[in-house]
Amino acid sequence: MVLGASMMAVSVLLTASCSEAFVQDPVDLVNPLMGTASDFRLSTGNTYPAIALPWGMNFWTPQTGTKGDGWQYTYGAHTIAGFKQTHQPSPWINDYGCFSVMPVRLQEGQTPEMMLAEDARRSFFSHQSETALPYFYRVYLADHDVSVEITPTERAAVMRLTFPESNASGFVIDSYGGELQIVDDRTIIGSTSYNHGGVPENFRNWFIIRSDKAFVLTASEEGHTAIVGFSTRRGEQVNLRMASSFISASQAEANLQEAGGSFDEVKSAAKARWNEVLGRIAIAGGTPEQQKTFYSCLYRCTLFPRKFYEISGGRQVHYSPYDGLVHDGPLYTDTGFWDTFRALLPLTNLVYPEVGREIVRGLANIARENDFLPEWASPGHRDCMVGNNSASVVAGAALAGLVSDEDLQVLYKALVYGTEHSHPGIESSGRYGHEYYNSLGYIPCDVGINESVARTLEYAYDDWCIARIAALLGRPQEEIALYEGRSGNWRNVFDPGMNLMRGRKADGSFEEPFSPYKWGGAFTEGNSWHYTWSVFHDVPGLVAAMGGKENFEKMLDSVFVVPPVYDDSYYGYRIHEITEMQVADMGNYAHGNQPAQHMIYLYDCIGERDKAAARAREVMDRLYKPVPDGYCGDEDNGQTSAWYVFSAMGYYPVNPASGEFAKGAPLFSRVEVRK
Ligand code: CA
Repeated sequence: MVLGASMMAVSVLLTASCSEAFVQDPVDLVNPLMGTASDFRLSTGNTYPAIALPWGMNFWTPQTGTKGDGWQYTYGAHTIAGFKQTHQPSPWINDYGCFSVMPVRLQEGQTPEMMLAEDARRSFFSHQSETALPYFYRVYLADHDVSVEITPTERAAVMRLTFPESNASGFVIDSYGGELQIVDDRTIIGSTSYNHGGVPENFRNWFIIRSDKAFVLTASEEGHTAIVGFSTRRGEQVNLRMASSFISASQAEANLQEAGGSFDEVKSAAKARWNEVLGRIAIAGGTPEQQKTFYSCLYRCTLFPRKFYEISGGRQVHYSPYDGLVHDGPLYTDTGFWDTFRALLPLTNLVYPEVGREIVRGLANIARENDFLPEWASPGHRDCMVGNNSASVVAGAALAGLVSDEDLQVLYKALVYGTEHSHPGIESSGRYGHEYYNSLGYIPCDVGINESVARTLEYAYDDWCIARIAALLGRPQEEIALYEGRSGNWRNVFDPGMNLMRGRKADGSFEEPFSPYKWGGAFTEGNSWHYTWSVFHDVPGLVAAMGGKENFEKMLDSVFVVPPVYDDSYYGYRIHEITEMQVADMGNYAHGNQPAQHMIYLYDCIGERDKAAARAREVMDRLYKPVPDGYCGDEDNGQTSAWYVFSAMGYYPVNPASGEFAKGAPLFSRVEVRK
């Protein structure tokens, strides 16, 4: 296998020049605003500044959008309405369990009640008086003459407010439709069940806010929004300590202990934690801009999936969004495996194996709490995207030796169940169309199941993953052979006449009419040019099916050469991913969305390493910058960033579960993975 020839061990990767020093304090190179200059029509990342610890249960972000807007912070906005505890993985998935705090200073003629409305309390701000780092955010709120600083722990935060001279300073708490109670002159507790799905009936986020200055002024509106206030002298600082829990109000108070230190103590601990995590990949050389891009991307790779567990009496415990009960052990959430199985989870397992191990322990817990593994979790099953790529996540971790036998047995059982069932009501979990796939070997395009080729291709790869797990567990030979056999099902949607993947009808004939430029239909957020390469586990097989290396290379070249024309009739409008392909000026290559992201590295799999290196370098140089419009499409919970991190190191996991890598074009003179 040609890919195998490129396999490499990873420790010290390159030692071309030992004269340059490794970057110090990598966290200070991170720009959390990378990707925030986005809107629903054109994504340059669709990110928000997550002020958080790595994989933290709670993130904090300034809120420029209106309540409920998935675009909660956008670089072009002029005003801020609050500082929000957020769990949002993506604007398309939106938020849950959130609340916000907004410092205010009343002016002549204003009453406290007037500040409760979101638009009334808004303040202008400028990026010139804003500092955004993973562990520290500061902004000046011009209309209130208040400076806000935030520093996080995993489940809590400290907010330091610097007020003007006023007898009506204070802050508004917005529970996002939940409940609030002012329990004493320094403490507010509340809870919210705000969500967009994926939660049981009893879902709730309990929060507590404790001020180190007593309130004298209070007002509230229907218990959802409240304001508290006090007199301040100019430059007076007030610290708010905030924490929450998905388990209970008393657990929220326990979680508040994380933020027990002074603002500066919490901040320096947060900075040290980020440097420890980002410093796992040490780099030397490259340009300052490349170093900033690298660590800004690595920051995005270490946010999701987030810890959804808490610590009680020294033990990990979690509220399960799958059965509504509280259980022992870890749980992670807020990730779409359709995106993140490709490079993010392989990166996590390689660089942060202790986190990869815990994520899969969490998946085993989910398998104990309900019948299905999640495919898009936020916090529970969400109906989004296709495939059954939890199989890849489990197989990748298992093959890396990160899964206990006991957990692997439980996970295998859930994976097998998923091959024969579709989640009732959540088409994304389990396998929608499994009846056709398991009997015909593909999902027909004319039986009312959308995106049938994308589903077939991903199920086939997922079956390869399941076969690997079956082999690890020593399952009977015929069982291993069943999934091994199904892993060849990609051949059933391959049209040898066109050398492209193509919709296929139940009677065996190919879909007519056919356009490789048509997005959606038989494919998911992509077209045949993009999906033809989704045979991660059998590149030599795909090469052979196309009639050999020359044909394969010609088809691969064509993706970059054909014009960026498109057919959007399936959607009825030009989805943003299409626009992002067009503006990138790389033909039909769509780096801004996930199906294409391994494609460049297929050149290395056929021995054309120079082509792989040139294309990878072009994408790194042009499509990633450490600036607000620095991504070329949705960042998607670490996946698009993981492409850059791997590519900058000089290699990429074409088959995400295998532990094998194709080679590209390293950016730095030295890279060291320090585990
Ligand atoms: Ca995407």
